[in-house]
Amino acid sequence: MRWNSLDDMDLNAKTVLVRADLNVPVEDGRVTDDTRIQRLAPTVHDIIAKGGRPVLLSHFGRPKGKVVPEMSLQMLIPAIETAFGLTVSFCADCRGPAAQAAIAALGEGAVLVLENTRFHPGEEKNDPALAAEFADLGDVFCADAFSCAHRAHASTEGVARLVPSCAGRLMEAELTALNAALGAPDRPLVAVVGGAKVSTKLELLGNLVEKVDHLVIGGGMANTFLAAQGIDVGKSLCEHEMTQTAAEILTKAATTGCDIVLPSDIVVAREFRAGADSETLPADTCPADAMILDAGPETVARIATVMEGARTLIWNGPLGAFEIPPFDEATNSAARKAAALTRAGKLVTVAGGGDTVAALNQANAAHDFTYISSAGGAFLEWMEGKTLPGVAVLGD
Ligand code: AMP
Repeated sequence: MRWNSLDDMDLNAKTVLVRADLNVPVEDGRVTDDTRIQRLAPTVHDIIAKGGRPVLLSHFGRPKGKVVPEMSLQMLIPAIETAFGLTVSFCADCRGPAAQAAIAALGEGAVLVLENTRFHPGEEKNDPALAAEFADLGDVFCADAFSCAHRAHASTEGVARLVPSCAGRLMEAELTALNAALGAPDRPLVAVVGGAKVSTKLELLGNLVEKVDHLVIGGGMANTFLAAQGIDVGKSLCEHEMTQTAAEILTKAATTGCDIVLPSDIVVAREFRAGADSETLPADTCPADAMILDAGPETVARIATVMEGARTLIWNGPLGAFEIPPFDEATNSAARKAAALTRAGKLVTVAGGGDTVAALNQANAAHDFTYISSAGGAFLEWMEGKTLPGVAVLGD
């Protein structure tokens, strides 16, 4: 799919409506992690450099169509000013005469942030009337919230139909990296999928077995796959009602030629807590009173071998209960291996999804990855092979 970038647009003296994702973590009115804001800075700076006036639209939280003062974007302004190094003004509505007046008053080189789009019930309904009101505010629409692109809302999809549209720098980086990883990847391609449950990642696994050469399955969901093979997983987290589905995925992989890597050894404990007594055992010998909390060293060595032979890697989800050491070992080792291969220029590595980024950061590996997506749900839907409405609308 071809889409316009900021480079394709004439922005001189134009008002550029930027759909950003300012849904950042906040505690007591203060931003605790401004990564998402930092990643918007290139878009805003480039718009200003091209003579445009950036006006930011975003949602925050789930106010469900009502004004909820605690979810006002106004509290973010100091953090946005710091991250952008620019003067940032705020308007207490995201449409209508107030927003029009704030845009008219916007000084050169300054940024305007409009109030939470989800204060209006039309936002999540993709109401054409609200989309038209957004469209009235700008000359150009710049989509820069890949993390919201799986939702067809008035500010992500509706407005893009009504105004000349382009991808912002963050959206551009996401689409380019994701296409390099799953659209037209250098092969062999390996996917590492971990996390708690098969049920939340079923479509993703179904899509991946058709596309990747090796699929590493770890975390709690691996237990369901072990159970599907008739292995007793004791007290482990396991969705026994999903074993049939897991078996079907294994069968599908056999027909598509996708090599599935499941734990061959496991780390088990009797308690789910940091520092709990643990032992490493063959995967088919989990004691009845124990739970599998991590993959063992033999499995990690096999994952490392697969990575060494691969050219591209996509990662979502931890390989074990990574928040409670020592059950972070497989995740840490595999992440560090992927990071080292990336540093050596041997592997293109793309990762995404909330817990994944936390796990890779904890392993001190994230900064070496080729690309870390800023998205959670949108990244998963992209891995599921779905068309994201906020991306599709940018196409020719
Ligand atoms: P998800 O949100 O699906 O990516 O799942 C992430 C969560 O899965 C993390 O909180 C991990 O602690 C948890 N997890 C991973 N492996 C296991 C396991 N073997 N047993 C229990 N929880 C696990």
